[in-house]
Amino acid sequence: MPQKEIVLSGMRPTGEQHIGNYFGAVRQWISIQNQYKCYFMVADLHSLTTLKTTKNIKEKTREMVTTWIAAGLNPKKSTIFLQSAVPEHGELSSILATLLPVSMLELNPTYKEMVAENPKAGSFGILNYPVLQAADILIYKASRVPIGKDQDPHLEISREIARRFNHRFGKIFPEPQSLFDEVPKIYSLTHPQKKMSKSHGSDSYVALLDSPDKIRSKIKRAVTDSGSAIKYDSINKPAVSHLLDIFYLVSETPIKKLEIKYKNSGYAEFKNDLAEAIIAHLAPIQKKYRELAKNPKKIEKILKEGSNKARLKAQKTMAEVKSKIGLLQF
Ligand code: ADP
Repeated sequence: MPQKEIVLSGMRPTGEQHIGNYFGAVRQWISIQNQYKCYFMVADLHSLTTLKTTKNIKEKTREMVTTWIAAGLNPKKSTIFLQSAVPEHGELSSILATLLPVSMLELNPTYKEMVAENPKAGSFGILNYPVLQAADILIYKASRVPIGKDQDPHLEISREIARRFNHRFGKIFPEPQSLFDEVPKIYSLTHPQKKMSKSHGSDSYVALLDSPDKIRSKIKRAVTDSGSAIKYDSINKPAVSHLLDIFYLVSETPIKKLEIKYKNSGYAEFKNDLAEAIIAHLAPIQKKYRELAKNPKKIEKILKEGSNKARLKAQKTMAEVKSKIGLLQF
């Protein structure tokens, strides 16, 4: 039987999970658990580069992993682990950091934006972010990252680092590629030009754990376009088009059908039904979440076992890395 390809993905425990994280990432992860050998990581070390406080990071870590499992991630199939519990990520990162000129890292758009906003905000951690990310991926020899083709350029630094290591010391790393042609993108309820994100305030997103009333009120207040027609037109009617996208994802009703159904109704009825469809879609996840949350020790056990498993693989790769470089090993 051919070996399953290895997949690595991660998410920072920076706060509430929203339907953008769910449809854009977690649901994609769930869909590939059988086909690939998957490693899913709580990227807690990465979150240090932007978090203002680490006060609730333990709670956020538990909550995030609980939502993943409630949504359908299966720890028996996938390795779910904590980045900071596998110190080999940092070890490999310090070796990989020797392979690239700083000038190349300075071109990273995220770094450039941060420095443009505030020159003093550009910590070494942010500059080094793509190198640690390459270590996260390469330490498991992942050949796939579950992102869409449009996000593929973000993997170029990881590929460049893999190529440079392989060229200099001998081939051990695959050059990681994006896995999907397209991944759903969910837009903000309050700023329809921007993607849904925690950083635009809680009214701009539907959290996975929002109560039905909160969902109703957020959808009711969601920005719409001028004119009352419920029509998919992402150029002229971006707000309603984005709401139709969400409606399709939560109800699996094709957008064409939704357009016909709401042809003669106003926004009020459309939004009311959309809110109910979101509530219905999230209900089983929330129910499972409440059951799982009663036993946080179980979630920690899953993370601990996953981290131990990930660490074994990471240690194996590190031994190989050292041997290729020619370092003395005991
Ligand atoms: P946030 O912007 O809320 O801080 P992150 O940047 O931590 O979210 O993203 C975590 C994961 O969720 C990433 O894989 C990202 O691509 C995905 N994601 C985040 N927001 C969206 C969105 N609005 N639509 C689709 N996917 C998203």
